[in-house]
Amino acid sequence: MSDTHFGFQTLDEAQKASRVRGVFDSVAPKYDVMNDLMSMGLHRAWKAYTVAVANLRPGQAVLDIAGGTGDLARAFARKVGPTGTVVHTDINEAMLRQGRDRLIDEGLVLPTLLCDGEKLPFATASFDLVSVAFGLRNMTRKEAALAEMMRVLKPGGRLLVLEFSKVAEPLQKVYDWYSFKVLPRIGQLVAHDGDSYRYLAESIRMHPGQAQLKAMMRDAGFGHVDVHNLSAGVVALHVGIKC
Ligand code: SAM
Repeated sequence: MSDTHFGFQTLDEAQKASRVRGVFDSVAPKYDVMNDLMSMGLHRAWKAYTVAVANLRPGQAVLDIAGGTGDLARAFARKVGPTGTVVHTDINEAMLRQGRDRLIDEGLVLPTLLCDGEKLPFATASFDLVSVAFGLRNMTRKEAALAEMMRVLKPGGRLLVLEFSKVAEPLQKVYDWYSFKVLPRIGQLVAHDGDSYRYLAESIRMHPGQAQLKAMMRDAGFGHVDVHNLSAGVVALHVGIKC
């Protein structure tokens, strides 16, 4: 068994998933309000951009991995309409429940499935589009996850990876101050859990930057990969095409 990272800590691969589960079990009830607070509402713009790039048509089949409280699944479901399918998935039951309840409250009943992005329980070539927003960073075996995403896409299908990335140099100092000093305090005050938000800041620093993730997607077999920097690289949207 090899080593991996949980934020800045190095640990055995077998331990990471349960540490990540602990984080999301803890933050699930306050996840949406914390997302708005921490990003000052920007996560809504990043997701709206992702939905625009997805450019879905009625009738298409979409898989949202690490879908959590369902922001992307809800927007995608409206685009593909009643003839399409959006499968809302996550490895964490607490997050998935929050998402499912919210979607039902909004009149959307989607297939909802507890599953690991690293081992997808779907047939090869099932989906027109696969998305993973702020989820890949938390996975232990990112190469295996990307290979699975590639496998379940139809030929010509696209993978959208929305994730924190490497911020532009002039902003680094202020971004570090905000991430390591402010974020954990907001987490402690609102969600009574500073540690989970410290993990968030650390995991962002350990995640591959724009060029490295692009190379990983090419290695997973995506014939073409575009990178869209958002908010000066705080976040990047990687779009891979299964050619
Ligand atoms: N996609 C949602 C969003 O953008 O608001 C939720 C993102 S949340 C930061 C990260 C999600 O990744 C959590 O719900 C967590 O349970 C999920 N996750 C972590 N590891 C996973 C894995 N191996 N497979 C599937 N989901 C995973």
